Amino acid sequence: MACHCHPGCHCLFDMHTSLENLIRKLGRLPGLGPRSARRAVLFMLKNRQRLMLPLAEDMHEVASKVRACVDCGNLDITDRCSICLDSRRDQSRICVVEDVGDLWAMERASVYQGLYHVLGGTLSALDGRGPDDLLIDRLVQRARHNDTIEIILALSATVDGQTTAHYIGEKLQGSAVEITRLARGMPVGGELDYLDDGTLAQALKARSTLEV
Ligand SMILES: [Zn+2]
Repeated sequence: MACHCHPGCHCLFDMHTSLENLIRKLGRLPGLGPRSARRAVLFMLKNRQRLMLPLAEDMHEVASKVRACVDCGNLDITDRCSICLDSRRDQSRICVVEDVGDLWAMERASVYQGLYHVLGGTLSALDGRGPDDLLIDRLVQRARHNDTIEIILALSATVDGQTTAHYIGEKLQGSAVEITRLARGMPVGGELDYLDDGTLAQALKARSTLEV
């Protein structure tokens, strides 16, 4: 199929295939479907210089530079993230979250000054996710470190979230650290990322000891 770049051009750019590819890939993003992807692509095409090309550059930069922190799993451009490297933070507490989005939610709420541990999901029989798929071993290692006095489990109030909390509780049994979890003020089935700052602050303040 001929290109439509300009008269006399014979490159292999097939506009329709490229466009459809872009729309299909965008449509796989959470919260988008083919319809929203189509609208987004059209909007970008109308704002090529101001939006589309800078966006492509940003994506390339983030994809090539951002990686997981070797200690906590947070995303940053250094091996150890800026939170782990920040000596002003309370090094004795580790807040365990499912995903980086939850860490961002905690940071937005500005209610917590300790360190984090990003599991990378929850245990899930349905999705076939077991302990080896999550950063649980690294958490157990960190919990044994002398500086650590409390592990706060800030996991979703979903079945999978609570199963994961219990599994971690069992893994850490016998260690000197105190294991707490967010208060039950969280809506059932609620995910951290969707909580408003006030609810999150309350849930953290009223955290209780995990009973295994
Ligand atoms: Zn880190």
